Amino acid sequence: MSGLTDLIYGGSNAVAELTEAAVNDAIAQYGAEHPVAFPDTAYFFPTIYAATGVKVTKLGDLPACVGVLKSLITNREDLGDALNAGLATAVGAEIIEGLKYAAGGDPYEGEGGIGFVPDKIIRSLGVPLVTGDIPGVAVVLGTADDPEALASIVKDYQTKGILTFLVGGVCDQVPAAGVKVGLDFRVVPLGHDVTSVTHVVTVAIRAALIFGNIQPGALPELLAYTKERVPAFVNAFGALDAVTVSAGAGAIALGFPVITDQNLGDLQIAGALESVTDLGQTAAKSLELRNIKVKVTSIPIPIGCASAFEGEIIRKADTWAEFTSDKNPAFELVIMRQLSEIEDHKLIIDGPDLQGEAMIQMPMATIVEVAGAKMQEDFEPVIERKIHYWYNFLEGIMHTGQRNLIRIRISNEAHNKGFGLKHFADVLYAMVMDDFGSVVDKCQITIVTDPDKVHELMEKEALPRYAARDARIDNMTDESVDEYYTCILCQSFAPAHCCVVTPERLGLCGAVSWLDAKATKELTPTGPCQPIEKKGLIDERKGIYEEVNKKVEEASHGNVSQVTLYSILEDPMTSCGCFECICGILPEANGVVIVNREYVGITPTGMTFGELASMTGGGVQTPGFMGHGRHFIASHKFIHAEGGPERIVWMPKELKDDVASRLNRTVEELYGISDFTEMICDETIATDSEAVLEFLSEKGHPALALDELM
Ligand code: SF4
Ligand code: ZN
Repeated sequence: MSGLTDLIYGGSNAVAELTEAAVNDAIAQYGAEHPVAFPDTAYFFPTIYAATGVKVTKLGDLPACVGVLKSLITNREDLGDALNAGLATAVGAEIIEGLKYAAGGDPYEGEGGIGFVPDKIIRSLGVPLVTGDIPGVAVVLGTADDPEALASIVKDYQTKGILTFLVGGVCDQVPAAGVKVGLDFRVVPLGHDVTSVTHVVTVAIRAALIFGNIQPGALPELLAYTKERVPAFVNAFGALDAVTVSAGAGAIALGFPVITDQNLGDLQIAGALESVTDLGQTAAKSLELRNIKVKVTSIPIPIGCASAFEGEIIRKADTWAEFTSDKNPAFELVIMRQLSEIEDHKLIIDGPDLQGEAMIQMPMATIVEVAGAKMQEDFEPVIERKIHYWYNFLEGIMHTGQRNLIRIRISNEAHNKGFGLKHFADVLYAMVMDDFGSVVDKCQITIVTDPDKVHELMEKEALPRYAARDARIDNMTDESVDEYYTCILCQSFAPAHCCVVTPERLGLCGAVSWLDAKATKELTPTGPCQPIEKKGLIDERKGIYEEVNKKVEEASHGNVSQVTLYSILEDPMTSCGCFECICGILPEANGVVIVNREYVGITPTGMTFGELASMTGGGVQTPGFMGHGRHFIASHKFIHAEGGPERIVWMPKELKDDVASRLNRTVEELYGISDFTEMICDETIATDSEAVLEFLSEKGHPALALDELM
């Protein structure tokens, strides 16, 4: 053991010295008042903030942190102490990387790299992590002796959907070996220096603050959270120096096993630090140590299929064939049939196949017919919406839109590998059976490319069915159903959180509508969505039900026992952290502002999305702050208790435009005000609250005349 602890202490001491020198240099150069911050975070220097509660904002705050760091390095023979020394290395690394930002530099300029990971990206990872779309997080560090073997490990992770962060020489080795890198491909270079490992450490730590309701300064709880809930592991390549070993000790302290390609002999610690010298075994061993289970659907197609490819964009110049409603009729439709009406696994291509050189334009109708004893018509749109995700999982295929407003591109690369029309049918069949097998007993796929036939099918089949569905969904209100649903999917990160999903209020992530929740209950009867019988009404305006309280209390393990469906001020629904939008009060305007995750600027509350978002989360109720889905904004029930959507005084322009037609209709119906969004301020008009107020009075915004909000 002592060989290992010596290395750890050696590394920690070296990092401590480097950190101290770097801090002193920076203060000498820029002065103690010089601001220092990582970009787009509400958590300061996250490791220091989480471990000690100290908010670093200027260079002068850092010497005290260096002191704390040194105190963590107590030279004893005990491995627990050595792990603390590893944490000290993490703190030192954070300071060193933070100083790069203070100096105005971009710490990573290579292909696809990002350096510090902004809060909003962590929030956006919440849902894929809980659904298992991203089954784990790999940190691949160092420089590999065998770049080809390294590349196949990373490629393996990529096809399994694992999010891989690269640190060190591997940042260059991996793309050079032909693996696509960047956040869109879930292989993300962080930096060449070993200290850039801090960027993944702070992801784990902020996950604890954002989703886990871990309070700053609560170090043991923090370490328990990262160990139990962040499914990360480290693969270290190449000769181990003291600094790398002490960084590895930091990872182990966070609960992340380290697998090295070096033979450590009896220095290994079972389950925490292991040698795997046969690189063919590295990936399997890593997943096993972290107990990561990967769901694989094998589909007979010539291109990769993995959630890691979801964000891939196919440019026009790289497109071989395109099906777009802009140019040709194109639509996708899922239809429920009787069992006797269809044949299982029948795949029909009707019309000419794709032929020719780049940028072939074709019409396309995709019809998925499903039958099953437990199938319901309500699940048609749930399955249909998944087509978008399944196609985007394909390497070299891009899909946008839904129904009869779609664009699908097949890249030249996918075409060259042999991908053709028929493979779409293969993918659809495999995915429908895989994801919906418990309600679908038979599935038949038809892809039509004949222009006249596509046109006719669209007019006669698709459009009337879409219209009927819309009419049904429009008529579906919270009053019109007998059951709401809980969703506790996010509990793997936010252990006390529970969404209540109603027809008019979808889950705050935006991904779970009432129909989705209902389908989930049918697909996995003991799963995350359980029905709440709508009984025991206490207050209609605020949306309080005895039964909702009871089910939320059960689902939140006693953490929350009173919840309103429609109030932001009184017992608002909890937030896990992955909400699409955050709503907050703007008292001076007697209204609320809503900000979506994508908006990076300041809001009239004086806070950014990230700062507003950090006010709530972790399954805690915070009156005055409420996370919610985009779609909820135009609901008749949006903050109904406080007067409803006419309280909205400010939204980023993109969000406002996105919800405008529905919101305007709702406000017209509720209050008889037309073109309401014209009265809502946005960042192109004003962001300071005085100018916002001026704009609102000019427009005669109704919120100004309402009862005082607080
Ligand atoms: Fe998480 Fe709520 Fe979305 Fe379910 S509905 S996935 S609990 S945010
Ligand atoms: Zn969530």
